[in-house]
Amino acid sequence: MFKKILIANRGEIALRIQRACRELGIKAVMVYSEADRDAKYIKLADEAVCIGPAQSAQSYLNVPAIISAAEVTDAEAIHPGYGFLSENADFAERVEKSGFQFIGPTPESIRIMGDKVSAKQAMIRAGVPCVPGSEGELPDDPALIRRIAKAVGYPVIIKAAGGGGGRGMRVVHTEAALINAVAMTKAEAGAAFGNPAVYMEKFLQNPRHVEIQILADKHKNAVYLGERDCSMQRRHQKILEEAPAPGINRKLIERVGERCVAACKKIGYRGAGTFEFLYEDGEFYFIEMNTRVQVEHPVTEMVTGIDIVRTQIMVAAGEKLPFTQRQIEVRGHAIECRINAEDPYKFTPSPGRVTTWHAPGGPGVRVDSHMYTNYFVPPNYDSMVGKIIVHGDTREQAMARMRTALAETVVEGINTNIALHRELMVDAKFMSGGTNIHYLEQWLDQRKR
Ligand code: ADP
Repeated sequence: MFKKILIANRGEIALRIQRACRELGIKAVMVYSEADRDAKYIKLADEAVCIGPAQSAQSYLNVPAIISAAEVTDAEAIHPGYGFLSENADFAERVEKSGFQFIGPTPESIRIMGDKVSAKQAMIRAGVPCVPGSEGELPDDPALIRRIAKAVGYPVIIKAAGGGGGRGMRVVHTEAALINAVAMTKAEAGAAFGNPAVYMEKFLQNPRHVEIQILADKHKNAVYLGERDCSMQRRHQKILEEAPAPGINRKLIERVGERCVAACKKIGYRGAGTFEFLYEDGEFYFIEMNTRVQVEHPVTEMVTGIDIVRTQIMVAAGEKLPFTQRQIEVRGHAIECRINAEDPYKFTPSPGRVTTWHAPGGPGVRVDSHMYTNYFVPPNYDSMVGKIIVHGDTREQAMARMRTALAETVVEGINTNIALHRELMVDAKFMSGGTNIHYLEQWLDQRKR
């Protein structure tokens, strides 16, 4: 096992990884920007190194500074968390070439999955169900593009191979709009992602977002830890997640989970990963794979009792997965609410000094947050300041626990979206389960009126 790990991230996930290190008896090195200098989780670390000014480009994305921090502190491995450099294949390669273990998949796996066209092709080969669409990148010939769209059936969605974060996509409803839409998406993709390649998919009208968590080791063992429903989204950003996904046939989840595991084995995947699917009319359609730990991993930890971050570290150190598929059981129901420092109505960011932070507690309640009374939320990063996660025997009990937890929670000094979560937890449609990816936006529109 490693003796010392460098955590190349900030905020709640940096603290989450630090906790896993401590439990494993591993020393944790934190890197931080000048904006995070005074944060408590930095002071809790065994060692801490400043890697640059507040701007991410000069600190949390500053590869040479992170590598030298690992060198001067004698860390053996680097955990990238989520966001920042976590899905950057070049970074993973630099880490390994510098003699450190990257806690995540191989640079090659990250590269394949980072390009949505190659990811989809790998999935088709592995028998994972995908959204019907073009076979790979779209050709230049307009007549051919029209023929592909006709075969797929309108509406279609044009997507950038290098896209991410909900950008680089365009929905097309009619043949008249097709060629222009392809040209525009290509131009935008070239400018935004440095790769003009685009592909086409059937546009699903009312899907849910359901994803499968997997874990794999370096000895060709892989398992799936059930699914998460992340359909509650605003502008393609998840705000609330739950496990299991309400009302989906367990046999179907098993079949898709087994396909994901087979795909992992086929591509030699290692570490934690998530297969993201759209789910509509009883069918799963793969859209992309995330090659890192996700914000919403705690709901899976709550229902399976498996520590995903701990397992990531263990398999990176070369250990075998400590459980088999048969030993994994999904028990009860878990819900996560993301707490964002933002206006609950206008969604504008609300950085600043937290004058009061009172966290909820009690049975089945977990809080993952780096916040504390007097913490200053810097304006430079993502607005998420923590997550409240609850577990109950049933979905009803989990919702009741979340209502209690949200009622106990106090954050003063900044605005947060807690009020929004309180409203959602008593919304009849949400409570009945299975709302689709458009539901939250429609609900927000209604609320405005
Ligand atoms: P990104 O990497 O930018 O997050 P994804 O491929 O994961 O892109 O898609 C993001 C979101 O866009 C999905 O959660 C879904 O809301 C929508 N989307 C993507 N592909 C389709 C599709 N074929 N049909 C309907 N909606 C889609």
